[in-house]
Amino acid sequence: MRATLMYGAGDVRVEEVPDPVLQEPTDAIVRVVRTCICGSDLHPYHTMPASGQGSPMGHEFLGVVEELGSEVAGLKRGALVVAPFAFQDNTCDFCREGVQTSCRHGGFFSTAQAEFVRVPQAAGTLVTLPVGEDSPLLPSLLTLADVYGTGYHAAKRANVDPRTTVTVIGDGAVGLLAVLSARQLGAQRIILMGRHKARTDLGIEFGATDVVAERGEEGIARVRELTGGDGTHAVLEAVGYREAYEQALGVVRAGGVISRVGVPQYEEGPLGWGMFGRNLTLTGGPAPVRAYIDELLPGVLEGTVEPGKVFDRTIGLDEVPDGYRAMDSREALKVLVRI
Ligand SMILES: [Zn+2]
Repeated sequence: MRATLMYGAGDVRVEEVPDPVLQEPTDAIVRVVRTCICGSDLHPYHTMPASGQGSPMGHEFLGVVEELGSEVAGLKRGALVVAPFAFQDNTCDFCREGVQTSCRHGGFFSTAQAEFVRVPQAAGTLVTLPVGEDSPLLPSLLTLADVYGTGYHAAKRANVDPRTTVTVIGDGAVGLLAVLSARQLGAQRIILMGRHKARTDLGIEFGATDVVAERGEEGIARVRELTGGDGTHAVLEAVGYREAYEQALGVVRAGGVISRVGVPQYEEGPLGWGMFGRNLTLTGGPAPVRAYIDELLPGVLEGTVEPGKVFDRTIGLDEVPDGYRAMDSREALKVLVRI
């Protein structure tokens, strides 16, 4: 099959690799119908040391079940399914406690920008979709694999409800879907911090009430000005750089919550009086997307939400290297790959 491999920073190639095969009786093989490039794929795209051996890429996909291991219950060959970016048994104690990304038999997908994917723990991972391969809903359904569930996780972890004021930091796909999620959970005031107008316009469509284009101290001052000097109850941080975390500390209201879903690119940050003195809560992490699919799927099927609007470019598998380039240069917000 053809698959995407990264050989180092800026070096993405599509090459022939062996087809995946069933390895465990709990596995399935899925023929990928749609996959996409994630903002988090850009981190290795910037930093990966050059290597003679390519690393497979991709963790978001939906597709058709081709093969099932002997112990996989509840799935049929030929079914269209979506997978969360992490696989899990969905039965262990961590899964039952709602942290599927810490499953005792789980792990993360990393081979999805390809024609076929081996899915471990298929029964606990794959969710059957009641639509066909030609459904116009596929882009929105694909966001259930990661970005929508991740934005939703940020809002859930921050206890967003109709009484919560919210700041979202970052106008990438996750930030925009954190806006959508906060709105869905009832938030009336949602301040989106981002400086790319086409993206913040989509954020307004998704429910943002204010846009702050300034960053750093200036951005903090602007959010405080918009909130009577106090900041917002919830801050959903969807970037991952230390600057964004410091911005979050600057705009969160006393007693509030900073919920991070941007993969942190730093190990150290302020934890002293600035946080302690104001009774702040810091939460967030890799989203247990599987936990949210059942909750979010009906809205997508009914068309009450259209998270798939974050895709602003569609390409074929062979064009994936250019898709990385386009997302890295911010020419594209999120790139959909049609296999
Ligand atoms: Zn588990």
